[in-house]
Amino acid sequence: MALQRQLARSGPQFAKTSLPRVQSRSLQDIAITRTGKPIIRISGGRSSLGGHTATVFGATGFLGRYIVNRLARAGCTVVVPFREEMAKRHLKVSGDLGRVVFLEMDLRNTASIEESVRHSDIVYNLIGRDYPTKNFDLEDVHVEGATRIADAVAKYDVDRFVHVSSHSVSKDSPSEFYRTKARGEEAVRNIFPETTIVRPAPLFGFEDRLLHRLAKASNLFTSNNLQERFYPVHAIDVGEALEKMCHDDSTAGETYELYGPKQYQMAEIKELVEREILKSRRHINIPPQIMTPVATLMNKLLWYTTMSKDSVTREFLDQTIDPTAKTFKDLGIEPTDLANFTYHYLQAYRSSSYYDLPPMTEREKREEKKYLHVLD
Ligand code: NDP
Repeated sequence: MALQRQLARSGPQFAKTSLPRVQSRSLQDIAITRTGKPIIRISGGRSSLGGHTATVFGATGFLGRYIVNRLARAGCTVVVPFREEMAKRHLKVSGDLGRVVFLEMDLRNTASIEESVRHSDIVYNLIGRDYPTKNFDLEDVHVEGATRIADAVAKYDVDRFVHVSSHSVSKDSPSEFYRTKARGEEAVRNIFPETTIVRPAPLFGFEDRLLHRLAKASNLFTSNNLQERFYPVHAIDVGEALEKMCHDDSTAGETYELYGPKQYQMAEIKELVEREILKSRRHINIPPQIMTPVATLMNKLLWYTTMSKDSVTREFLDQTIDPTAKTFKDLGIEPTDLANFTYHYLQAYRSSSYYDLPPMTEREKREEKKYLHVLD
């Protein structure tokens, strides 16, 4: 300022031509984190400088891409711990060169977890599994794994930790998935009390296991006759909420339940799906007494995702809402309804004989066969 005043005094002509250009940055752009670290919060695009350094565990899954993409395209540096080379490739292009950093990690290797979090100012844990695998049961993933990540976050005093849990969690639930998720929440809160807990409802989107399961299966096997009720939520809305949590420190220590605006019964969603794909899928209901041992066996023998004992149990549980938890409304987000997106996500399942072009006019029909092109 002093330099500018001095130049202004030495003559208006001189002052106009040789005033140095001072880069202006409003003070609100600079945020001081809980640990006193200054962060330049930028609103620029993927090539801008500044922003947060975020670690996203479980980024290779369905929801992961919706938060990695949002952070990376806003110029943040995103650390993606991974365990399978091929599963992470699509995330590379979500940010500018060098913005998406991959680190090999194993959920039982504490050193690799610590390496993944130690340079970050926010850590997201999206790691979860619907069914037990040969090396990890649900307890290993949702309680022990989450505990190890929270321990690393606390050890390196990372400013923020966002832990993605699940809807309907309860320590007394008949479902092992909901029980272990509830214990995971408790464990991370005990280690790092500022943890933000996010409980998403069943997600729908391009890579979901809800709409696509109903559209794909030539034979759909269930046990509860598609009677379960829940509030499906759009993956893009959850991604937006996770991004907002990064920029708003008042979300630290809070619990959010993120669910869609309308409750559906699974049978209603099946109807919507069939109307959209213009096909009818066969549905076979098998009593749980038979389905549970079959699902357990399939889960043990098959190497790809199928049913599990717990998925049969979950079919009999409707989504519960915790009235004390915060929601999309507290983040200023209006969640979108599943019915508005079925065409968008399912049009590829339509037969090629249905195409969405306007009907041909009589003249077009007459002219269509006028020319015969021989190409080779
Ligand atoms: P996905 O199953 O698509 O992805 C799970 C992620 O966790 C993957 O990146 C996977 O890695 C990782 N992971 C699983 N087990 C391990 C392990 N043993 N070691 C290391 N990484 C592991 O889940 P979504 O993206 O759909 O869901 C994200 C979170 O939201 C999860 O915690 C899930 O439980 C929760 N949730 C999801 C709902 C939904 O409808 N999708 C509903 C409610 C909650 P890899 O790719 O290497 O397998």
